[in-house]
Amino acid sequence: MISITIHEQACRGCQMCVDVCPTKVLSFDDDKRLCVVQTPQDCIACLTCSYLCPSGAISHADYHTVKNFYRDLAFGSRMSRFL
Ligand code: SF4
Ligand code: SF4
Repeated sequence: MISITIHEQACRGCQMCVDVCPTKVLSFDDDKRLCVVQTPQDCIACLTCSYLCPSGAISHADYHTVKNFYRDLAFGSRMSRFL
């Protein structure tokens, strides 16, 4: 399963990752003033939180990416002959 790490010393508590996550994996810990991983099993590995974090405080491991072939224009043009 995917592993998500919040590097607590880097997190500045802006909550942008909490707001952007489409599956609500992350939440905000009011006591610590940091975001925390709440439901890692719901992570779809979009990596949006990681790219968006201004501190680079979120990292992921044990995931694989699937190529978005429908956005590959060269592949799409080859398919047009069948349409
Ligand atoms: S986006 Fe980064 S700095 Fe902001 S709360 Fe999330 S982990 Fe912390
Ligand atoms: S990688 Fe995507 S789904 Fe996973 S925690 Fe980050 S924003 Fe949410």
